[in-house]
Amino acid sequence: MHMPCTCLLLVVHVHVHVNCACACVHNAHVRVRVCVRVRVQVHVARTSPRRLTLRELIYDLGGGIKGGELLAVIPGGSSTPILRPDELVDAPDEKSPIHKWHGKSVLDVPMGVDTMRGLGTMLGTCCAIVLSDKACPVLAMHNLMRFYRHESCGQCTPCREGSGWIERILDSIVAGEAQMDDLDRLHEIAGNIMGNTICAFGEGTAMPALGFLRKFRPHFEEYVKTGGQSSTGKLAL
Ligand code: SF4
Repeated sequence: MHMPCTCLLLVVHVHVHVNCACACVHNAHVRVRVCVRVRVQVHVARTSPRRLTLRELIYDLGGGIKGGELLAVIPGGSSTPILRPDELVDAPDEKSPIHKWHGKSVLDVPMGVDTMRGLGTMLGTCCAIVLSDKACPVLAMHNLMRFYRHESCGQCTPCREGSGWIERILDSIVAGEAQMDDLDRLHEIAGNIMGNTICAFGEGTAMPALGFLRKFRPHFEEYVKTGGQSSTGKLAL
Protein backbone atom coordinates (compact mmCIF):
# COMPACT_ATOMS: atom_id res chain seq x y z
CA MET A 1 0.00 0.00 0.00
CA HIS A 2 2.00 2.95 -1.24
CA MET A 3 -0.13 6.03 -0.81
CA PRO A 4 -0.68 6.05 2.98
CA CYS A 5 3.06 5.62 3.39
CA THR A 6 3.58 8.64 1.15
CA CYS A 7 1.72 10.88 3.55
CA LEU A 8 3.50 9.53 6.58
CA LEU A 9 6.91 9.95 5.06
CA LEU A 10 6.25 13.55 4.09
CA VAL A 11 5.03 14.40 7.54
CA VAL A 12 8.23 13.10 9.01
CA HIS A 13 10.81 14.16 6.48
CA VAL A 14 9.57 17.08 4.43
CA HIS A 15 7.57 19.02 6.91
CA VAL A 16 9.18 19.07 10.27
CA HIS A 17 7.07 20.92 12.86
CA VAL A 18 3.87 19.97 11.14
CA ASN A 19 0.44 21.20 11.98
CA CYS A 20 -2.62 20.08 10.09
CA ALA A 21 -5.70 21.73 8.72
CA CYS A 22 -8.48 19.50 7.50
CA ALA A 23 -11.53 20.36 5.47
CA CYS A 24 -14.19 18.53 3.59
CA VAL A 25 -14.54 19.36 -0.10
CA HIS A 26 -17.69 18.65 -2.01
CA ASN A 27 -17.00 17.58 -5.56
CA ALA A 28 -20.15 16.76 -7.51
CA HIS A 29 -21.72 14.13 -5.23
CA VAL A 30 -18.50 13.08 -3.63
CA ARG A 31 -17.42 14.39 -0.27
CA VAL A 32 -13.73 14.07 0.41
CA ARG A 33 -11.55 15.04 3.31
CA VAL A 34 -8.65 17.30 2.55
CA CYS A 35 -5.65 17.76 4.82
CA VAL A 36 -2.90 20.31 4.53
CA ARG A 37 0.62 19.55 5.71
CA VAL A 38 2.55 22.70 6.33
CA ARG A 39 4.17 24.74 9.02
CA VAL A 40 1.06 26.76 9.53
CA GLN A 41 0.13 29.26 12.19
CA VAL A 42 -2.75 27.40 13.75
CA HIS A 43 -3.95 23.84 14.12
CA VAL A 44 -7.56 23.36 13.08
CA ALA A 45 -9.93 20.60 12.03
CA ARG A 46 -13.10 21.83 10.37
CA THR A 47 -15.54 20.99 7.68
CA SER A 48 -16.73 23.34 4.97
CA PRO A 49 -20.07 23.18 3.16
CA ARG A 50 -18.51 24.16 -0.14
CA ARG A 51 -15.44 23.55 -2.25
CA LEU A 52 -12.45 25.34 -0.80
CA THR A 53 -9.69 26.96 -2.76
CA LEU A 54 -6.07 26.19 -1.97
CA ARG A 55 -5.71 29.77 -0.76
CA GLU A 56 -8.53 29.28 1.75
CA LEU A 57 -7.11 25.94 2.86
CA ILE A 58 -3.62 27.34 3.41
CA TYR A 59 -4.34 30.82 4.73
CA ASP A 60 -7.80 30.69 6.30
CA LEU A 61 -7.82 27.20 7.77
CA GLY A 62 -4.08 26.74 8.09
CA GLY A 63 -3.40 30.29 9.23
CA GLY A 64 -0.77 30.96 6.57
CA ILE A 65 2.91 30.13 6.37
CA LYS A 66 5.01 30.38 9.51
CA GLY A 67 8.04 32.60 9.05
CA GLY A 68 7.96 32.88 5.29
CA GLU A 69 5.99 33.08 2.09
CA LEU A 70 4.36 30.37 0.06
CA LEU A 71 6.77 28.75 -2.39
CA ALA A 72 4.50 26.05 -3.81
CA VAL A 73 1.82 23.55 -2.97
CA ILE A 74 1.41 19.91 -3.92
CA PRO A 75 -2.38 19.75 -3.90
CA GLY A 76 -3.18 16.05 -3.70
CA GLY A 77 -0.35 14.17 -2.03
CA SER A 78 3.25 13.67 -3.08
CA SER A 79 2.52 11.96 -6.40
CA THR A 80 0.60 14.92 -7.81
CA PRO A 81 2.29 17.72 -9.79
CA ILE A 82 3.25 20.79 -7.81
CA LEU A 83 1.68 24.24 -8.28
CA ARG A 84 3.35 27.61 -7.83
CA PRO A 85 1.35 30.54 -6.43
CA ASP A 86 2.42 32.79 -9.32
CA GLU A 87 0.85 30.48 -11.89
CA LEU A 88 -2.25 31.84 -13.60
CA VAL A 89 -5.11 29.77 -14.95
CA ASP A 90 -4.86 29.41 -18.72
CA ALA A 91 -8.29 28.22 -19.83
CA PRO A 92 -9.69 30.39 -22.64
CA ASP A 93 -12.00 27.58 -23.80
CA GLU A 94 -15.46 28.16 -22.34
CA LYS A 95 -15.99 24.41 -22.08
CA SER A 96 -13.07 24.04 -19.72
CA PRO A 97 -14.05 23.30 -16.10
CA ILE A 98 -11.70 26.06 -14.99
CA HIS A 99 -12.61 28.68 -17.62
CA LYS A 100 -14.41 30.69 -14.93
CA TRP A 101 -11.03 31.34 -13.28
CA HIS A 102 -9.14 32.10 -16.50
CA GLY A 103 -6.39 34.59 -15.70
CA LYS A 104 -6.67 34.16 -11.93
CA SER A 105 -4.17 32.54 -9.60
CA VAL A 106 -4.29 28.76 -9.41
CA LEU A 107 -4.73 29.22 -5.66
CA ASP A 108 -8.18 30.71 -6.26
CA VAL A 109 -9.62 27.70 -8.09
CA PRO A 110 -11.95 25.59 -5.90
CA MET A 111 -10.48 22.17 -5.28
CA GLY A 112 -12.13 19.29 -7.06
CA VAL A 113 -11.22 16.35 -9.26
CA ASP A 114 -12.19 18.27 -12.41
CA THR A 115 -10.61 21.58 -11.50
CA MET A 116 -7.31 20.17 -10.30
CA ARG A 117 -7.10 18.09 -13.47
CA GLY A 118 -7.75 21.25 -15.46
CA LEU A 119 -4.71 22.79 -13.76
CA GLY A 120 -2.53 19.88 -14.82
CA THR A 121 -2.42 18.28 -11.40
CA MET A 122 -4.75 16.09 -9.31
CA LEU A 123 -6.79 16.08 -6.13
CA GLY A 124 -5.21 12.67 -5.46
CA THR A 125 -5.26 11.63 -1.84
CA CYS A 126 -6.42 15.10 -0.79
CA CYS A 127 -3.32 15.69 1.32
CA ALA A 128 -2.04 19.09 0.31
CA ILE A 129 1.65 19.60 1.02
CA VAL A 130 2.83 23.17 1.31
CA LEU A 131 6.39 24.41 0.89
CA SER A 132 7.47 27.77 2.26
CA ASP A 133 10.08 29.87 0.49
CA LYS A 134 12.54 28.84 3.20
CA ALA A 135 12.46 25.28 1.87
CA CYS A 136 14.59 24.07 -1.02
CA PRO A 137 12.59 22.46 -3.85
CA VAL A 138 15.63 20.48 -5.02
CA LEU A 139 16.04 18.85 -1.62
CA ALA A 140 12.28 18.29 -1.39
CA MET A 141 12.31 16.46 -4.74
CA HIS A 142 15.39 14.52 -3.67
CA ASN A 143 13.57 13.39 -0.54
CA LEU A 144 10.47 12.39 -2.49
CA MET A 145 12.44 10.44 -5.06
CA ARG A 146 14.32 8.55 -2.35
CA PHE A 147 10.95 7.45 -1.06
CA TYR A 148 9.67 6.37 -4.48
CA ARG A 149 12.85 4.45 -5.26
CA HIS A 150 12.57 2.68 -1.92
CA GLU A 151 8.88 1.84 -2.38
CA SER A 152 9.10 0.53 -5.96
CA CYS A 153 8.32 -3.19 -5.84
CA GLY A 154 10.70 -3.72 -8.75
CA GLN A 155 8.37 -5.62 -11.03
CA CYS A 156 8.57 -3.18 -13.93
CA THR A 157 11.90 -2.06 -15.33
CA PRO A 158 10.96 1.61 -15.96
CA CYS A 159 9.83 2.08 -12.36
CA ARG A 160 12.55 -0.02 -10.75
CA GLU A 161 15.48 1.31 -12.78
CA GLY A 162 14.05 4.74 -13.51
CA SER A 163 13.44 5.58 -9.86
CA GLY A 164 16.97 4.45 -9.04
CA TRP A 165 18.48 6.54 -11.85
CA ILE A 166 16.48 9.57 -10.76
CA GLU A 167 17.65 9.17 -7.19
CA ARG A 168 21.30 8.77 -8.19
CA ILE A 169 21.24 11.82 -10.46
CA LEU A 170 19.64 13.84 -7.68
CA ASP A 171 22.33 12.55 -5.31
CA SER A 172 24.94 13.97 -7.67
CA ILE A 173 23.08 17.29 -8.07
CA VAL A 174 22.87 17.77 -4.32
CA ALA A 175 26.54 16.75 -3.95
CA GLY A 176 27.52 19.34 -6.57
CA GLU A 177 28.83 16.72 -8.99
CA ALA A 178 26.18 16.95 -11.71
CA GLN A 179 26.41 18.47 -15.18
CA MET A 180 23.74 20.61 -16.80
CA ASP A 181 22.72 17.83 -19.20
CA ASP A 182 21.88 15.66 -16.17
CA LEU A 183 18.80 17.84 -15.77
CA ASP A 184 17.65 16.88 -19.27
CA ARG A 185 18.42 13.27 -18.43
CA LEU A 186 16.14 13.49 -15.41
CA HIS A 187 13.35 14.76 -17.68
CA GLU A 188 13.95 11.94 -20.13
CA ILE A 189 13.97 9.20 -17.48
CA ALA A 190 10.80 10.48 -15.80
CA GLY A 191 9.10 10.85 -19.18
CA ASN A 192 9.97 7.26 -20.08
CA ILE A 193 8.36 5.95 -16.88
CA MET A 194 5.03 7.55 -17.80
CA GLY A 195 2.62 5.01 -19.29
CA ASN A 196 5.14 2.17 -19.22
CA THR A 197 4.44 0.48 -15.92
CA ILE A 198 1.96 -2.04 -14.57
CA CYS A 199 0.58 0.11 -11.80
CA ALA A 200 0.16 3.82 -11.21
CA PHE A 201 3.10 3.98 -8.84
CA GLY A 202 5.37 4.56 -11.83
CA GLU A 203 3.42 7.65 -12.78
CA GLY A 204 3.32 8.59 -9.12
CA THR A 205 7.09 8.77 -9.33
CA ALA A 206 7.33 10.49 -12.70
CA MET A 207 4.66 13.16 -12.32
CA PRO A 208 6.10 14.94 -9.29
CA ALA A 209 9.60 14.63 -10.76
CA LEU A 210 8.50 16.32 -13.98
CA GLY A 211 6.55 18.93 -12.04
CA PHE A 212 9.51 19.92 -9.87
CA LEU A 213 11.85 20.02 -12.84
CA ARG A 214 9.53 22.20 -14.93
CA LYS A 215 8.54 24.60 -12.19
CA PHE A 216 11.89 24.95 -10.43
CA ARG A 217 14.46 24.54 -13.18
CA PRO A 218 16.50 27.59 -12.04
CA HIS A 219 16.94 26.04 -8.59
CA PHE A 220 18.34 22.85 -10.14
CA GLU A 221 20.62 24.87 -12.42
CA GLU A 222 21.87 26.81 -9.41
CA TYR A 223 22.98 23.58 -7.76
CA VAL A 224 24.87 22.57 -10.90
CA LYS A 225 26.48 25.97 -11.46
CA THR A 226 27.54 26.47 -7.85
CA GLY A 227 28.70 22.93 -7.16
CA GLY A 228 25.94 22.03 -4.77
CA GLN A 229 25.21 25.36 -3.12
CA SER A 230 21.58 26.46 -3.01
CA SER A 231 19.92 29.65 -1.95
CA THR A 232 18.34 27.88 1.02
CA GLY A 233 20.15 24.56 1.39
CA LYS A 234 17.36 23.37 3.63
CA LEU A 235 14.79 20.68 3.18
CA ALA A 236 12.12 22.41 5.22
CA LEU A 237 11.66 25.27 7.65
S1 SF4 B 1 5.02 0.51 -11.35
FE1 SF4 B 1 5.74 -1.61 -11.50
S2 SF4 B 1 7.67 -1.70 -10.31
FE2 SF4 B 1 6.59 0.20 -9.78
S3 SF4 B 1 5.46 -0.34 -7.93
FE3 SF4 B 1 4.04 -0.63 -9.68
S4 SF4 B 1 4.27 -2.79 -10.26
FE4 SF4 B 1 6.00 -2.27 -8.94
